[in-house]
Amino acid sequence: MNLTHVEHIGIAVKNLDESIKYYENILGLKCYAIEEVKDQKVKTAFFMAGQTKIELLESTESDGPIGKFIEKKGEGIHHIAFAINNLAEGLKEIEAKGIQLIDKVPRQGAEGLNIAFLHPKSTNGVLTELCEHPE
Ligand code: ZN
Repeated sequence: MNLTHVEHIGIAVKNLDESIKYYENILGLKCYAIEEVKDQKVKTAFFMAGQTKIELLESTESDGPIGKFIEKKGEGIHHIAFAINNLAEGLKEIEAKGIQLIDKVPRQGAEGLNIAFLHPKSTNGVLTELCEHPE
């Protein structure tokens, strides 16, 4: 297992445009990209705070994962993402140790990253994403 750093922190928001205003006008960060990830039914906005990336997530449909999350828990921190060197291998290793996976094989996430989620039931309640930068 080789996690190199926290790749980003994912935050569920009801309204992306309103939330971007807070990050830009109050915190003084700059939104450098907005991207829709269709299979996750989300629109994402990205910021860099120094070396740390923040990902805002707005649901594009109420039955999407972020829509359901907000309905249950309200807005707030949704997941933490770690960068990993070999995602496919890491997932096998993690599963072999008895951790419940949401994604057994990597899939395509925002910014062209290969991603997979670990189930919060196995991770002390923290939805955990692993990201691999493609070669
Ligand atoms: Zn993420």
